[in-house]
Parts: sequence; C-alpha cells; structure tokens
Amino acid sequence: MNLRQTNSEAVLRVLVMFSTLGKIDYEKLGLKVGIEIHQQLDTKTKLFCSCPTTLRDVSESNFEFFRYLRLKKSEIGEEDRAAKEEILRSKRFVYKAFNTTCLVEADEEPPHELNQEALKIALEIAKILGMKIVDEVHVMRKIVIDGSNTTGFQRTALIAFDGEIEVDSRKIGIATLCLEEEACKKIDSTEDTTIYSLDRLGIPLVEIGTKPEIDSPKLAKKVALKLGMILRSTGKVKRGLGTIRQDVNVSIRDGARVEIKGVQDVEILDKIIEYEVIRQLSLLKIREELEKREAWVKDEIFDVTEVFSETKSKILRNKKVKAIVLKKFAGLVGMEIQPGRRLGTEFADIARMFGLGGIIHSDELPKYGITLEELKKLREYLNADEEDAIVLVSGKDEERMNRALRRIIERAEFCLIGVPEETRKANEDGTTSYLRPLPGAARMYPETDIPPVRITKEMVDQIEIPELIENRVKRYVREYKISKDLAYAIADSKYYKLFEEYASFIPPTIVARVLHIAPSEIKKEGYNVENLEERHYRIILDMIKNNEIAKEGAEEVLKMFCENPELSKEEILERMKVKVDIDKFIWDLLERNRKFVLEKREYAFKPLMGNIMKEFRGKIDGKVVAEKLKKAIDEFLKKEG
Ligand SMILES: [Zn+2]
Repeated sequence: MNLRQTNSEAVLRVLVMFSTLGKIDYEKLGLKVGIEIHQQLDTKTKLFCSCPTTLRDVSESNFEFFRYLRLKKSEIGEEDRAAKEEILRSKRFVYKAFNTTCLVEADEEPPHELNQEALKIALEIAKILGMKIVDEVHVMRKIVIDGSNTTGFQRTALIAFDGEIEVDSRKIGIATLCLEEEACKKIDSTEDTTIYSLDRLGIPLVEIGTKPEIDSPKLAKKVALKLGMILRSTGKVKRGLGTIRQDVNVSIRDGARVEIKGVQDVEILDKIIEYEVIRQLSLLKIREELEKREAWVKDEIFDVTEVFSETKSKILRNKKVKAIVLKKFAGLVGMEIQPGRRLGTEFADIARMFGLGGIIHSDELPKYGITLEELKKLREYLNADEEDAIVLVSGKDEERMNRALRRIIERAEFCLIGVPEETRKANEDGTTSYLRPLPGAARMYPETDIPPVRITKEMVDQIEIPELIENRVKRYVREYKISKDLAYAIADSKYYKLFEEYASFIPPTIVARVLHIAPSEIKKEGYNVENLEERHYRIILDMIKNNEIAKEGAEEVLKMFCENPELSKEEILERMKVKVDIDKFIWDLLERNRKFVLEKREYAFKPLMGNIMKEFRGKIDGKVVAEKLKKAIDEFLKKEG
C-alpha cells in the first residue's frame, strides 16, 4: 500500500475545503449556534459585598493568599468529566488581594444581600427583551473548577426567561437572563500554579443566552451586535476591552456540540464559527480515513528516555521522555484541521493543560534537533512502522506526563468516533484551543447564605424601558441634521445626554465636534484622551456658549485637559490668553524683522527665541514656544517665498 499518497490526498481534500471558506452550505450541514453574552454592569458596588467595581493594577496588590482545589463528590456529581480532569491537573491557586478586598471576596465571610442596583439593571434588560420575569430570585452556586472563584463556585441567579429579538426580520429566541458574579482575572500560570487577581471577582454581570436557533455565522454576529447595542442602550453597563464576552455553542449534524469560551472581539464571531465548522468537518474526514485504514490506538505508555540518551535536542536532553503509538495514524496527526492548527495541536493543547510544554509527533520529524536516525531508532524500539504515528512528551514530573498521555490516548481513540463534545477557548486569530471536556449537567445547587428576593409587579412596572441606541440614531439624524455615522458615534457614547443638552443652544455639529471628532483626532496625535471626563467637556462647551473661546479653540483646550486633567476653567482661560498673546507676539516679531528672517532663514530661530523668552519666561513652556516659533518661521518663509 502506498501510504504517502493516501496521506497527501487527505491533506489535499482539507485544503480544497479551506478554499471553499465562505461558501460552506451551513443549512445542509445542519449548523446550530447559540450565543451567551456576558456583560459587566456599571454598578457602584459588587454583587454580594460593598466593595467598588473598579479594576486595579496587579502591582497595587498588597497581600496574597493561596488555595488548593478541593471538591466533595456530592458537589460535583460523580460523573462530571470536566471536574475530574481538573482535579487530575492538580494546581495551586494564588490570589492577589488589594486594599479594597474584603472578607467576602476572600471567602472568609458569607455573601451579603443581592445588590439591588444590579437587580434593577437586569430587570430593565429583561423588559427590553420582552422576557418573562421570575416571581422570586434564587441565587444558585455553579461549580467552577479552574480556581477563578475563591469559593470554588460562581453565584448565579435566573432573573428572566423566554424573550426574543428581531434580526434581519428573523425572530431569535432568548432563553435565559441570569445575574452572576464575575470571576477573578487570570494573571499568570505555571506548571503547578495559577495566579489570579481579586479586583474583578464579584463585579455584577448579566448572562444572556439565546436559543440555538441561529443557523449561519453571519446571523450569529448580527445577533451579538444587536444584543450589545441593547445592553449599552441602558447606559448602565461597563465599557471597554474585557467588559463584554461572548461564548458560542456550535454544532453540526454529524459533529458535536462545542462550547467556545471568551470571544472578546465580536467582529471575529463569524470567523470563529466558520473555523469551528471547518474543524469539525476536518475531524470527520480524519475519521473516514482512519476507518479506511483500520487504524487503532495502543493503550500503553512507553518510557523511551534511553532512545534519546545521547540526543542533541534541547527539548528531550536530560529529561524523561515518554511515548504513545497511534497505529496507522501516520500523516493524519500533522494534518491541518483549522488554519495553522493540526490534529497534533489538539494533542498539544491537552499536554499544556497538564502543565507540559506540548508534544512532539512523528509527522513533524525531523525537527527540534531530533534526527531521522533517532526517529528510526524510536520506531524500532516501539515496534512501530512507517504507517504509525508516535506522540512524545518530555519533562521531569513522570506522574504529570502519564496523566497527560493517558488523556491524549483517549483523545486519539475518539478520532475513530468523531468530534468530541468539549469546551474550547477562542484565540485572537479566530481558531480555538482545547480547554476541557463539556461539563455535565448537575453543576448547580442552592446558595443557602442568601435569602430569595421577591420580584413584585410594582418593582417591574417602575422600571422604564430606555430609548434604544438605534432609535436614538434615527432621531439625531432627523432632529439635528447630522450624518448617520456621526449620529451613531454620539448616540452610542456615554455623553449622549450632554450632547442633547448643549445642542439646544450651540450648533449640534459643533457640540459633536467637541464630544467626538476632536477627541478622536487628538488621540491619533498621541494625547491621552482617557483623561477626559464630563467636567472637561462641560467647561469647553460653556466657554464656547459664552463666547469666551472660539469654537476652533476647543481642540487646544482638550489637549490641555489631556495633559493636565486638574486644570480649572480660570487656569484654562489664562493659558488661552497667553496663547493668543504669544501667537500675536511671534508674528509681529517676524514682520518687524522681515529682512533679517529672509536673510538668515532657519538660523533666525535662535536670536528670535531669546527675544520671545525675555517676554514670556515663566508664563509658557519653552518647548511650546520653540515649536510655535519654528512653525511660524516656516510659514513666514513660505508666504514670503
Ligand atoms: Zn468585597
């Protein structure tokens, strides 16, 4: 049998499939997608304690403590695959605490009452989505096994169910809306330790899950964008990177349900789904090929350290090396299943989960300093021939290596069955990595420390539905005669109310310029616009309104605030006055010394600079003067020819 040829045929088929990207017939494949959106709420305090919801820099941490994961059988259910695997990985968790961390977050004190502000925001969102609201909120504990909660579980409460949104004249069902506590942020992770930061733990978030009724990647992205718009319309959610995350459930008819966690950029949501479909199709192709070859997996872990006793490979030298044999898998372990990711990458993900650096497989050899000679020796040692694939791991901790290889054997055996159900992590390029098996169903139990909260009809009736951003955009275009793009930028910003307030006595285009266009322009010049707050915009708009500065001066004042946010209105006016004076002074000076400037050209700079500083020393920064003078000389020379 000519194996090399069958391998390259298989590879070719997958490549052909990649080239049809965007032309995949999702309907025929029976694609089903459900989205889960997690959005942090902009409340003053956390969900179960009164600590602030501000994020901290980990360098501000003033103490830390650590925990080991210990789970009781009754809590995890005996058959929970995900929990079992996590225990096998046995890690130590270190928590970075701050001067704002309290005993609730450290799990040294029971949780306080449910945050009412967060509950009201959740109810508001439920009303917008036309959902049925529960009569009583019961807080539940959801098992979390990766250490991202100090308690070992995440508290979650169902607030509403059964709503819908309309996208592209399609109605997509919203299954549930839950109020949850945010988990810790992962800072770092080594072989046996994961470090978390406690500032994010307990920030309230809403989790909104659609029904799995979405049938194309494009529609999924539109649904996510619409939900995001609805959430921001409340004006009560946090903004910026990491404050909203999407999880996606993807399945195709012959594949399996896969949960992809942590999509931060909604713009690549469609790509992630496409790539997942390609991965599942590729795995099905591999199964077909394996069936044809009558492939199988040897259920044995081999110590092959002595084969590499004299190796020059840095990865294997002076380490334990262990191997498994995949009979008749040759060529398939190196086969691409997503752009840039191979079946071998899936095995490597597992190894990394167990704290190892990755794997080496025979399809990629010779590589990493491992020679063909050594590969031949390895094949002989393992009694494996050219048709077989070999997977190697190296390390110091034998138990860890054995556990990882045992899982890789299981994973390889599953190649003969098809696509495993699992939880995966979204990568920035649209591909995904293996995270853990899909958790079992029995992961929730009641949180007995928090009494149920009754939701009365009055409570729900009192909550007003806000104007949706998309409707606000239409109104702005109509009322203020500004472009749709500009209207969207303003309507979607947190200063939209400020815009409406000032647009009643300053031309709307000028207000929009101050609030949106000018800040984005000076940001490109390198100014730190993060420093700008409502107070600053109010000062500028008031000054324009009172004719204290010209509208062209707004940009200059914004720059001053970026560099010095503490400045008062009086200080700004003083600086603007000096600025006007100095501009005039420079031009008068150039005119007065016309002949000198034309003769000396750029060499006129130094003597003139001395003249100006005599007048303005202490009132304005010398660097600013120098820049202004240089610019003025350039312009003067251009004008005078
Ligand atoms: Zn607290």
